[in-house]
Amino acid sequence: MNNIFDPQSLESIQKLLTNDANIVIVSHKNPDGDAVGSSLALHHYLAKKNIPSKVILPDQFPSFLGWMKDADNILTFDKHRSEVIDTIYHANIIFTLDFNDQGRVGPQMEKYLVNSPATKIMIDHHQEPKDYATFTFSDTKACSTAELVFEFIEANKDVHLIDEYIAECIYTGIMTDSGSFRFASTSSKTHQIAAKLIDLGLDHTNVHELVYDVNTPDRLRLLGYTLNEKLEIFTDIAFAMIHLTKEEMLSHNTLKGYTEGFVNYALSIQGIKAAAFVKEDDHIVKISFRSKGDIPVNEFAGEHFSGGGHINAAGGKTEVSVEETLQKIKTHIVPFMKKYV
Ligand code: 5GP
Ligand code: MN
Repeated sequence: MNNIFDPQSLESIQKLLTNDANIVIVSHKNPDGDAVGSSLALHHYLAKKNIPSKVILPDQFPSFLGWMKDADNILTFDKHRSEVIDTIYHANIIFTLDFNDQGRVGPQMEKYLVNSPATKIMIDHHQEPKDYATFTFSDTKACSTAELVFEFIEANKDVHLIDEYIAECIYTGIMTDSGSFRFASTSSKTHQIAAKLIDLGLDHTNVHELVYDVNTPDRLRLLGYTLNEKLEIFTDIAFAMIHLTKEEMLSHNTLKGYTEGFVNYALSIQGIKAAAFVKEDDHIVKISFRSKGDIPVNEFAGEHFSGGGHINAAGGKTEVSVEETLQKIKTHIVPFMKKYV
């Protein structure tokens, strides 16, 4: 298997990973299955080698990820601010997982991460990684960071250390970031890793159920409302868009993570090649973009919405109203999509 983890770097890293080092694992804001799965997988793997580490996230992860071992020990900047600042301040080594730019931890936490003199080790699969880490392990072809954590363990010749908990975390990252092995980023290597995890004792059906079969009636009603009332289809440019305001989400008792995956319904419409989901947040409007084939929604997000991501899955934001955001998308999406349809 091709592996981005070169022996020289691994040797240097192994020397740093001692049981008295202060090791921190950080992932991105609005953590998803890959952020939490890859971080906890690495944390459990290090623990197997008697190397303690702490997982830090900028904010809370959705409840459908809470079953993972030690998920309840994760420190979040929004809830445990002083402890997080203190932990980052004392860190010798910081693994940054599933992001390519320190700004992805959000503006409040960013400065503490940036100012830390710790040795930084980036493991990530996003395009155009920034050059902030001492060790940069970036593979933009990987379907997920969790896939890369498996490769890190493999390159360290430690696959035998993978237990059911590590396997569950890795599988969650792979499954959620690959759209259940559906997106183009899913490779034969992805399937080989899944196969190995199953051989190591993973109950993959259970993981799928824990992540995907946990709908509440409220979430399904919110989805029904969104698709019924808030879906706009622009057939001539093969584009579909949905949006939700804060008020609508409040009136449907929306919890964190409820709108995860909504954008995929818009993309699943026959003939649609790109989709957007616009969501009113506290002080910003957050946009998720998805596309098929060679339509680079990351470029669109970067150019117009201070965002980025992958070719087929990207995100961005605005600081104007939902209405103005929708207008802005409608203005720019027409010439963009006309290049591809
Ligand atoms: P989602 O739509 O699920 O929030 O994000 C999809 C992808 O786009 C993820 O891979 C995520 O890393 C990336 N992404 C989402 N929001 C932003 C953003 O504001 N800036 C950048 N650079 N990437 C984003
Ligand atoms: Mn990811």
